[in-house]
Order: sequence, then structure tokens, then C-alpha cells
Amino acid sequence: MRSVAVVGASLAGLGAARALRAQGFDGALTLVGAEPHPPYDRPPLSKAVLLGTAGPADLDLCDPADADLAAEWRLGVPATGLDRHRRSVLLADGTEVRADGVVVATGALPRRLPGPPLAGVHVLRTREDAAALRGALTSGPRVVVVGGGFIGAEAASACAALGLDTTVVEAAPLPLAGVLGAEMAAHCADLHAAAGVRLLCGTGVARLLGTGRVRAVELADGRRLPADTVVAGIGAVPAADWLAGSGVAVADGVVCDGGGRTSVPGVVAVGDVARWRTPGGSVRAEHWTAAVEQPAVAVRNLLAGATVAEYRRPPYFWSDQYGVRVQFAGRRAPGDTVRVVEGDPAQRSFAAVYERAGAAAAVLAVDRARAFTRLRRTLTA
Ligand code: FAD
Ligand code: NAP
Repeated sequence: MRSVAVVGASLAGLGAARALRAQGFDGALTLVGAEPHPPYDRPPLSKAVLLGTAGPADLDLCDPADADLAAEWRLGVPATGLDRHRRSVLLADGTEVRADGVVVATGALPRRLPGPPLAGVHVLRTREDAAALRGALTSGPRVVVVGGGFIGAEAASACAALGLDTTVVEAAPLPLAGVLGAEMAAHCADLHAAAGVRLLCGTGVARLLGTGRVRAVELADGRRLPADTVVAGIGAVPAADWLAGSGVAVADGVVCDGGGRTSVPGVVAVGDVARWRTPGGSVRAEHWTAAVEQPAVAVRNLLAGATVAEYRRPPYFWSDQYGVRVQFAGRRAPGDTVRVVEGDPAQRSFAAVYERAGAAAAVLAVDRARAFTRLRRTLTA
């Protein structure tokens, strides 16, 4: 393999470039990125950036050692196609990058609320999104956050800290119940109320009201919530459309084996865009740690031309909201027994273990980092 193109120049793409060099690849390396910026970190966008305590300069992922990557950076130019017969990545400016190997690291794009675009309605994925939302939060006091998942909880937490009148609308009976199970999700839902944020569950959004600029959110049950700003945190879809017709199998993410190899030889996928096979089923892990850890495995398999390594770490994420850190590792399944083993949910500080067949399957901690680290070690791969 004499040339590799990494498509997607963010967390997973940078990790892949570093892994290629660390594993001895000394051929031509090109990074293609749709955004004009060098790789930057997204977690602060929904936390410190909204609060105004971090700016763009605090987000840079590259360090001085990355000059040694000796890579060609094609930033601000999205890939539009992959021609596997010519071994070529096609770019929006009409040029192409010839490469023996391709790493797909194009991440995910925010789902948007249906209807015509209205001023005051925001998503949160990029630096520009965060700057626009931060600016909007000074334009009026009433914020409606649609979706009570990660973006929803973190954005609502920031809005509450800024003293804004904040309502979260969640379609499911409880936010995060799919990940945490109803009992633990209820404890996390309590964090909203404790900060004075209204949480309306079990109702979707019927439509947004306003001409040119949003004025209110109409719920499926007919209620109308006046809004100066609306934040849509209703999930993300894999950025894989550019692979249409390439032969790379896509099914809610690029379909990969347990080592990141796709249906096309010489093409691997990592991070939010990738759906990796695991012993418990295929998973598209939309979390920072997977985007950091998968590239070394995928690159090893790319360079070997075979799956010689698999990624077996239990999934992990953290979320900072309402002054506490929520951490979760492992996989919960219906029927697991969940036990609080330390602390007290009423005090907003506890650790819980999910057990299956007598073994720990997952661990949750709220503001209990030391216990979490210890309990996480008990999880089996
Ligand atoms: P991305 O970061 O999405 O990067 C993909 C890159 O590919 C983008 O720059 C995109 O522009 C580019 N791209 C897309 N299409 C093309 C194309 N056709 N051609 C070229 N380039 C393309 N995870 C946690 O575990 N904890 C957190 O607290 C946390 N907070 C988060 C807060 C926010 C606001 C967001 C958005 C995410 C957060 N995450 C968090 C998730 C974490 O940031 C992601 O899992 C991680 O960014 C995934 O990295 P990635 O490189 O796979 O994808
Ligand atoms: P998410 O975690 O999938 O949460 C979306 C939530 O919105 C779900 O609870 C969903 O309910 C609900 N929803 C969907 N459509 C709705 C509607 N029309 N009305 C009301 N509620 C609706 O996605 P996200 O919070 O938007 O985050 C986007 C991406 O960023 C994800 O990849 C996420 O992992 C990542 N992120 C991660 C973190 C972190 O790990 N700390 C922080 C921020 C962002 P259903 O599930 O019932 O559809």
C-alpha cells in the first residue's frame, strides 16, 4: 500500500492518520475534510462554548507533533464519491485523490426538524453551529430544546446556567431510557427539574410557528410553547451519502466487520459513521472514545489487508450536565438487574451496576468518577 486517503478530517480521521504513521506507513497520506478547519474537538461545543468559557482556539486537536504526519490536507472540500475500480476519491471541486487504501471517517450530521428554515432554530454539531447558538442565547429568554438526549441535556444545562427560561421536549416517555434503562434514566431526568428546567416527555413536536423567525413550538398534543430560540437535539445520521454507488455497504452507517473493514477491500471505516460488528450485534458508537480507539485497529487491518485485530472494548461515554458528570460503560439489556452500589441518587452522586447472569454488564456513575473507574474494570470485554 503506497497511498492512503483519510476522508473526514476530525477526531477519528486525525486518529487514523496518526495510527498510519505510528504503524510504519511511509507512503503518501492525504486528509480530505469538508470543514475548512483543522480537526477540532466537539464535546466542548455543547458545554464550555455555550457557556462562553471556551472559544475556537481551545478546541484544536492537532499538536505540534502532527507536522511529522507529512500529510497533504485538503480542507474545505467534501468528498463526493468513491470509485473503487480506479481506487480514487472524488472531490466536490472536480479533482480526485488516488489512493490504494481509504479510511472513511466522515462522522454524522445533525437531524433537522421538518418544515421551512426559520431564524432562531438551531442544531449543534460544528464550531459555526455553536457560535450561532451562543449568539442566539442573548436574543431572548425563552428556549425550547427539542430532544432530551445528549445534545438536549447539555444544551439545556448550559441555558439554565445562563439564567434562561428553558423547556426540554422529549418524544419518548423518558430521555436516555434506551441507553440507561427506565430506572436510572429517571434519576438523570430529575437533574433537569432540580435546575429549574421544564421537561415535557411523551410528546413530539407538531410544527414550528412563526414567519421568517420562530415564535413558538406547537406540540403534538396541541400545547404551544413560546420560544425565542429552539435547539434541535434529535439525533444524528451517518454522513455516508457520498459513498452511494461505490460498493461500500451502508445500513445506518458503513457496515464493518469487527475490525473496521468494509465490504470493499482496502476501505475501512471509523468513528460516528461506522457500524462495527461486535459480539452483541452491530453497533454505531456515536461517542468520543470509540472515535479515538477504533482507528488504530482499523488501520492495522487496512495495512495487513486482512482482519488481524478486532475492537473489543466495552462502549464508554461521558456527559457533563447540570454540574455533574454522567459516565456509562458497557451494554445494558432489557432484564438486567440494576443496583446502586455507592452514593445516593437523591444527592445527585451515585454509582450503579447492571448485572446479567451474575456478572457486571454495564456501569453508570453520576458525579462519582473514582467509583466509576474502579467498577468499569470489572466489566468483561
Ligand atoms: P465527526 O466529529 O463528525 O467528524 C467527521 C468530519 O468529517 C467532519 O469534520 C465532517 O465535516 C467531515 N465530513 C463529513 N462528510 C464529509 C465528506 N463527504 N467529505 C469530507 N469530509 C466530510 N461524545 C462523548 O463521548 N462525550 C461527550 O461529552 C460528547 N459531547 C459532544 C458534544 C457535541 C456538541 C457533539 C456534536 C458530539 C459530542 N460527542 C461526545 C460525540 C463525539 O464528539 C463524536 O463521537 C466524535 O466527534 C466523532 O468523531 P468522528 O471523527 O467520527 O466524526
Ligand atoms: P440522541 O442522543 O440520539 O438524542 C436524541 C433524542 O431526541 C432522543 O431521546 C430522541 O428520542 C429524541 N427525539 C427525536 N426526535 C424527536 C422529536 N421530533 N421530538 C422530541 N424528541 C425527539 O442525539 P443528540 O442528543 O441529538 O446527539 C447527536 C449526536 O451527538 C449523537 O451522536 C450523540 O451521541 C452526540 N453527542 C454525544 C454527547 C455525549 O456523549 N456526551 C454529547 C452531545 C452529543 P428517541 O430515542 O425516542 O427517538
